[in-house]
Amino acid sequence: MASQYNLQMTASPGTIHEAAQALNHSDTTSVAICQSLIARSAAVDARINGFVALDHDAVMKAAEASDRRRAAGNALSPYDGVPVAVKDNISVTGQGCGCASKILSGYHATYDATVIDRLRNAGFVCFGRTNMDEFAMGSSTEHSACGPTRNPWDTRCVPGGSSGGSAAVVASGQAIAAIGSDTGGSIRQPAGFCGVVGLKPTYGRVSRYGLVAFASSLDQIGPITNDVRDAAILLEVIGGHDPRDTTSLPDNCGGFHKALDNVSIRDITVGVPREFFDVDGLTPEVRSAVESAVGMYRDAGCRIVDVEIPHLKYAIAAYYIIATAEASSNLARFDGIRYGARAGDGDDLLTAYLQTRKNGFGAEVKRRIILGTFVLSSGYYDAYYLRAQKIRTLIRNDFEHALAQCDVIISPVTPAPAFKLGSVTTPLEMYLSDIYTVPVNLAGICAISIPASADGRALPVGVQLIGASMAEVPLLQAAHWYHSQREEHAS
Ligand code: GLN
Repeated sequence: MASQYNLQMTASPGTIHEAAQALNHSDTTSVAICQSLIARSAAVDARINGFVALDHDAVMKAAEASDRRRAAGNALSPYDGVPVAVKDNISVTGQGCGCASKILSGYHATYDATVIDRLRNAGFVCFGRTNMDEFAMGSSTEHSACGPTRNPWDTRCVPGGSSGGSAAVVASGQAIAAIGSDTGGSIRQPAGFCGVVGLKPTYGRVSRYGLVAFASSLDQIGPITNDVRDAAILLEVIGGHDPRDTTSLPDNCGGFHKALDNVSIRDITVGVPREFFDVDGLTPEVRSAVESAVGMYRDAGCRIVDVEIPHLKYAIAAYYIIATAEASSNLARFDGIRYGARAGDGDDLLTAYLQTRKNGFGAEVKRRIILGTFVLSSGYYDAYYLRAQKIRTLIRNDFEHALAQCDVIISPVTPAPAFKLGSVTTPLEMYLSDIYTVPVNLAGICAISIPASADGRALPVGVQLIGASMAEVPLLQAAHWYHSQREEHAS
């Protein structure tokens, strides 16, 4: 498998829980962990381009402060000192928050996102800003003003997107874990392409305060990690009610990590949605990865049931109408006056707006703003936007019905594994690859992508598990069991 194109780690820097244990036993320090990740990054990131910024001084300062707290017996949590990479659309005070866009060059966040607040309160160290598709619009991290990120398993291939940087830095051993955002698959799909774990929590579980909005009714922040336990740990830290986000759910977020200790897998019912296997372009290796996962659950004594998601075929169309409509409104704030770069300075106001947006946004972002403005325009609102919202309700009902019959639904993450950079040439072809991930965001429920097997070219293939609203416990339990079995097989 090793080749000049493969930068996957032979010795991974481990997991959050392993790092925490080593720190708690004084076997290592936060400074030592961060130094080794920085060294790894210096060795490989020129070929991956997973980070858009990695401020060594800020990292080392935070690591030293953590080590001092531990030495004084004042660790903020068991995880104090563990570094986590952060996607470039999440605000960290004083750091660039460019969303991989020219329009935000020079902009520095003036406050911490709630997830950052919570990570810092638990002692986590913010470790660099990860690359992404501009404003989280894309499935390959090729649409970044900072240049494309590459897949550590094969640098000729894309890492997926839009959180491609987050997935790639974890997969290439430059970070122990990372935070991403998922509007239509942007955590799960890159995790699948890079062979790591990606969790999209239930809509409202994790505060969006401080996340640069793409499509507010779909966006959700979540973790990209080396195993399911780490995903549970991070969800517990970053999740829970936040009065600063009006869509935040009232519940606090707890018990996920403990729930993984004694999983009785036999009690879990797995739903298999037939429609998901009739999708055009579903490759044999992806199909067989999912089928063999179903077989593993069956052999372990799980009940396997057929379920239906009859409106799946409308999901992509509905998503790209709703997401672009919301994006066209959310991105109106980038006018050169309030944030980042300004063009046409000295001209009249309208020229400044026009020049700033013309120069600042990339082609994909412009395409979406135009499409979103069109579907919201008065003549077409009923024909497109309203219909898409109706489809959204039907899809939500489909999942509610299906998830009343099982604990988790199993599906592919994408129809095919990672593709070569530049090989997907039309936007529509790119959009169609989101078929398995966008329905979950439309329904507002939770899902996780777990590495399953490598295909013939040694690229990872993921499997997706989908759970009901707020049903992260059975979701994580089923995922943890499967992932642990895979690891045992591999070792
Ligand atoms: N690929 C999808 C899109 O381009 C999803 C992006 C996301 O989840 N941020 O919109």
